Amino acid sequence: MTQATGTLYIVSAPSGAGKTSLVKALIEQIDTLRVSVSHTTRAMRPGETDGVNYHFTCREEFLEQVGKGDFLEHAEVFGNLYGTSQSTVERTLAAGHDLILEIDWQGAQQVRRALPQARSIFILPPSRAALQDRLSNRGQDSDDTIAGRMTQAVDEMSHYVEYDYIVINDDFHTALDDMKSILRSGRLSLAHQQNLNSQLLTALLSD
Ligand code: 5GP
Repeated sequence: MTQATGTLYIVSAPSGAGKTSLVKALIEQIDTLRVSVSHTTRAMRPGETDGVNYHFTCREEFLEQVGKGDFLEHAEVFGNLYGTSQSTVERTLAAGHDLILEIDWQGAQQVRRALPQARSIFILPPSRAALQDRLSNRGQDSDDTIAGRMTQAVDEMSHYVEYDYIVINDDFHTALDDMKSILRSGRLSLAHQQNLNSQLLTALLSD
């Protein structure tokens, strides 16, 4: 991978923790930030748009792309395949943008191995009861369906310890502020400042 100037952020969360709304608000508020649009084999949901929410594809095409090495990471989540385009990540970072990958813990492990400089954030709900509430409020699902979602959510949450940052989404605006602080500190890091302010750093040390 070419020398990147932007910072790569991995964001994971159990379903119902509010990850998508937080990332959406961040993208709207921070000019330099982008979010990666993943490839997936899952069916499009009402209200979703191809190329915006995901690049929707079939299993055969997805596996062909895996074979060509097109994905920085890919994983099977709840019976569907998901993957992050390697070339899009390279291009976005090289252009100096920070980039968020909204991916699960399996993808996060692969990205950390490929790009150890990536920073990872795990979003948690404020309590088990709140999570249960959020998972139940989505529609008219049976108790079994909700219990199944809870099991999946607990499985995802069991990986929180692998992440650099933990954000607890109790109050949305506080959680958003926490996310912004993480991104801001990334832009103040030595590596980033050396890219952003190279002329100043050289000038300050010259005779
Ligand atoms: P959904 O289908 O509900 O949008 O997402 C289901 C799960 O797949 C979420 O945990 C989400 O983070 C994960 N996911 C979405 N895109 C990717 C991806 O490109 N790679 C991986 N590994 N997981 C993804």
